[in-house]
Amino acid sequence: MSLLDELVGDCASRTWILAHLDYPHKDWCLFWPFALNQGGYANVGGKGLLVSRIMCEHRNGPAPADKPDAAHECGNGHEGCVNPWHLVWKSRGDNLRDIPKHGRRPKRYKVTPQQVDEIRALKGRMRPRDIAEIYGITDNNVHQILKGKIWKQERSDLRIFTEEEVRLIRTTSWQEKSAKQFAKELGASEYQVYRVRQGLSYKWIDCPSLPYEKQKSKAQLAAEALALTRQMLGSQE
Ligand SMILES: [Zn+2]
Repeated sequence: MSLLDELVGDCASRTWILAHLDYPHKDWCLFWPFALNQGGYANVGGKGLLVSRIMCEHRNGPAPADKPDAAHECGNGHEGCVNPWHLVWKSRGDNLRDIPKHGRRPKRYKVTPQQVDEIRALKGRMRPRDIAEIYGITDNNVHQILKGKIWKQERSDLRIFTEEEVRLIRTTSWQEKSAKQFAKELGASEYQVYRVRQGLSYKWIDCPSLPYEKQKSKAQLAAEALALTRQMLGSQE
């Protein structure tokens, strides 16, 4: 049984984990969007299962007996990083020895490139001070991001959505159109579509997302199609 199997039910945190198991970006941290434990780490379920352990197991296989700790090579575990690429299994001793090394890290980014896109999309809609508060950065950081003084590199997946597009993404069942299809249609990345759909970005647009649906069986889909056909025939009479 894998650690992932310990997560049951269709809660938002499980959905988020499933959507990020194969997170493609190695170069920056992936921060857990839900509440963190007292140490600043991401955990789920009643027993306090660490999300970093789930991610580490998905990428590296089960923990070897002599290396039981999911260690962050980026040093941002206490900030809630759960990027699968930043995790390796280490012995407790090696993991503890890394702490001072990480403490000396001169620089780390507080926002992800996706959040930079979101911040830029908020320009003119919200006061920089409020944006700073939402993202936990300084007013000055917000000004620098908006002016393109930091994070100015060209991004291929930069796509700012209109309000209509956000509403469409949130209210279209994923059975009907997958994130991949939306991404292709709108010229955005799949990850951006996920974030819009799950209400993690464009939070100011007041439009709740449809709940996450399980894959329906073929029999279920057929029954629904039949019911719909009957309904249409009935309404014509
Ligand atoms: Zn990281």
